[in-house]
Amino acid sequence: MTSLRLATVHPGEPEIFHSLQGEGISLGRPSVFVRLSGCNLACLWCDTPYTWYFTGHNARHRGCETFVRRENSLTLDIAEVARRIAEFGCRHIVFTGGEPLLQQPALAALCALLGPDYHIEIESNGTVALTAAFDAHVDQLNLSPKLAHSGNAADLRVNETSLAGYARDPRAWFKFVVASPEDADEIDALASQYAIAAERILLMPEGTSPAVLQQRAHWLAPLCLDRGWRFTDRLHIHLYGDTRGT
Ligand code: SF4
Repeated sequence: MTSLRLATVHPGEPEIFHSLQGEGISLGRPSVFVRLSGCNLACLWCDTPYTWYFTGHNARHRGCETFVRRENSLTLDIAEVARRIAEFGCRHIVFTGGEPLLQQPALAALCALLGPDYHIEIESNGTVALTAAFDAHVDQLNLSPKLAHSGNAADLRVNETSLAGYARDPRAWFKFVVASPEDADEIDALASQYAIAAERILLMPEGTSPAVLQQRAHWLAPLCLDRGWRFTDRLHIHLYGDTRGT
């Protein structure tokens, strides 16, 4: 039996849902989302801390208590995950997290079970390289390398080998979460070091409320125009608020 560790919408119910992609290059596309539990980073402002910030975790997180692991994650056989995905009748899948690439053997087995008719999109922090087995199934990579304001140590949030590999991968887009205009210099430095073309870079305001996103968009939009980067909003926050399963 091969299984995935998944986040929950509420205790006992895996976070597998049908919605519009809220961020990045596929914004607005109807997709089935599968949210995996567990992450190798610990971002201060993470909007899905229930996927990793479990009781006993010694990192800091802005504004929330730790979560009880058994209420916020569960293990599900990939055959059941495939059955639930198929029920939606949508051929576009987004594996998100947490950090989904921590569970590549099970993801590769799930994709093999689903067959070739699905478009597979991955949301990852870019610190974990693709395995050969999973690589063969992946159509699109939405990578979100973390900047200093995430609170992660530099040697954890940037894996040079992994990021250099993704920079050469035409399936990869680079979405940076931005909290202040000064973050642009850090993005410039990464883009230059890894030779990432401006048109593959998207900037997204950090925020979990429409008011904060709108306020930050005022300075982020002209910044993107100036540097030739794309701007991405967080559609799901505007439509549904900061809620699970959306
Ligand atoms: S990498 Fe993503 S899931 Fe992990 S802590 Fe940071 S924002 Fe959260």
